[in-house]
Amino acid sequence: MSVAERRHGFRTGYVAIVGRPNVGKSTLMNRLIGQKISIVSRKAQTTRHRVSGILTNENAQFVFVDTPGFQTAHRNALNRAMNRSVIHALSGVDVVLFVVECGRFSQADRAVRKLIPAGLPVIVVLNKIDRLGDKSQLLPLIDQLQAEGDFAEFVPLSAERGQGLDLLVEATEKYLPEAPPVFAADDVTDRSERFLAAEFLREKVFRQLGEELPYGIAVEIEKFEQVGDLRHIHAAIIVDKDNHKGIVIGEKGSRLKRIGGDARRELETLFGAKVFLEVWVKVKSGWADDERAVKSLGYE
Ligand code: GDP
Repeated sequence: MSVAERRHGFRTGYVAIVGRPNVGKSTLMNRLIGQKISIVSRKAQTTRHRVSGILTNENAQFVFVDTPGFQTAHRNALNRAMNRSVIHALSGVDVVLFVVECGRFSQADRAVRKLIPAGLPVIVVLNKIDRLGDKSQLLPLIDQLQAEGDFAEFVPLSAERGQGLDLLVEATEKYLPEAPPVFAADDVTDRSERFLAAEFLREKVFRQLGEELPYGIAVEIEKFEQVGDLRHIHAAIIVDKDNHKGIVIGEKGSRLKRIGGDARRELETLFGAKVFLEVWVKVKSGWADDERAVKSLGYE
């Protein structure tokens, strides 16, 4: 522990980053933890939360908790289970960063807002300010948001350009309780490589499919083997219906290729080593409505 960490007034707390898809949550997280994603061995679980990243500065330690992805478009057992696990992940955090795109507050944002348990301080992150020609456009949005709920603060920033992050860190720090750090400064995540592979691939599937994302899609890592430095990963993208298969595969396999290629490149950066990633699409008819199948995939 450094001298700075020992001094009086150090704060440590749990922070959740929530928001509808594509508002910039992963970009923000990567910026905040300085792109320094590294794998650390799983340690005795010190908290009830799953940790997805840690930022430690001289005043505070911010422990970012995992909020599994969730959808608001369809209601089925899978989405209900995901939403429950989001709520579970949020209960007990000290502060929530609710990321929205500046200039746009939609039904999907509102649905996310509703999942945040009452009583938690919520900082609204107005991301992508670089897209606003005229910064005075922020004011009507802040007014609109003020009418939507009881928010602690509003912080406009650009996660991509790294503008305004210091203000967010300062604003967030105030909501953390005084406590010594719980992780060594260089621990960044405690998730297993297998889990991270599934998360990265799932993120690419969601991104590539966008609006076409079929109901009940999931990712399963069927095999994860390391030979020397090379990781061999076999993964399945599971769809609910036969006709969803083509959507994922794309014309002449182009979409699946992009999904696999993007995921492989990111995993190689993450692991700092070569990855052999094989992805196929599997149909598991009706599984999204089967609570047992959902549980076996680890959403709860
Ligand atoms: P998530 O789905 O909420 O995790 O969103 P991502 O972090 O994956 O970002 C979604 C898209 O928005 C990506 O194409 C990012 O490059 C882009 N993005 C994120 N932050 C900013 C920003 O500050 N400005 C602009 N212009 N684009 C951004």
